[in-house]
Amino acid sequence: MEAEVSTVGRRRPGRRNPSVGPMNATAETTENTTTSASPAARARDLVKVHGQGEAAVTALAGVSLDIPAGSFSAIMGPSGSGKSTLMNCMAGLDTATSGRAWIGGIEISGLRERALTRLRRDKVGFVFQAYNLLPALSARDNITLPSDIAGHRVDPSWLATLVEVTGLDGRLAHRPAELSGGQQQRVAIARALASRPAVVFADEPTGNLDSRASAAVLALLRRCVREFGHTVVMVTHDPVSASYSDRVVFLADGRLIGTLDDPEPASVIDAMKSLGE
Ligand code: ADP
Ligand code: MG
Repeated sequence: MEAEVSTVGRRRPGRRNPSVGPMNATAETTENTTTSASPAARARDLVKVHGQGEAAVTALAGVSLDIPAGSFSAIMGPSGSGKSTLMNCMAGLDTATSGRAWIGGIEISGLRERALTRLRRDKVGFVFQAYNLLPALSARDNITLPSDIAGHRVDPSWLATLVEVTGLDGRLAHRPAELSGGQQQRVAIARALASRPAVVFADEPTGNLDSRASAAVLALLRRCVREFGHTVVMVTHDPVSASYSDRVVFLADGRLIGTLDDPEPASVIDAMKSLGE
């Protein structure tokens, strides 16, 4: 869609009009280029205005995006470019002002709160920068908590696989405070995957970790995609983190301005430069 204003109130002076530069894909995924029969997640013309009147901020100015099932996507962009808002609107954590979004073929725009809550619980996994584990529960109970609340038992062999791939064997009885940051984030990833969701959204999952713990978390996310066919969408501002993904999507001022397939740290940095970040 033609959006009227990219940002209201937060316009950055001097930012040039973004263009796609030497990238190997177009900025917008159109109906014509949609190859996958059913993307794991999909957005069409998403607009999100936070606040009202003078205080209104257009965080998303019309974003369309397909997340293919079984892919690892990274969303990059400057602080305030709308990355978290896009993730939250695609994941059903926040309601877009206009536009449409789907999770695993189910349209979430317009769903009532109860149906949305159930869809999030059954189809979406979340990983946050701050881990968001419950401090009073063991690692094992944190992993199974969402399923316990939903009244579904986590498949024991899948749980055993998750424990193995996350390297948490021997740590399951520990509470979060007794675990390192990297271990806590791996618990959060196991929790996100326990119900085998259609898509996992991770917002700056390595933002609080040192480079070694980050590498372990990123390798784990990539392994979940490659080996187990899961779908991961990760917000990051770090080129090295983004290089673990299959495709980087660049946002600026609430718009999708480019994509980069098969990213490597150097090519991500080049793309960021050519896009004016
Ligand atoms: P990013 O994750 O890329 O840093 P965000 O999606 O958090 O960006 O924010 C995009 C824009 O929307 C920013 O200008 C931010 O200040 C604004 N914004 C985000 N959340 C809210 C909110 N709840 N209320 C008002 N403005 C918000
Ligand atoms: Mg953010």
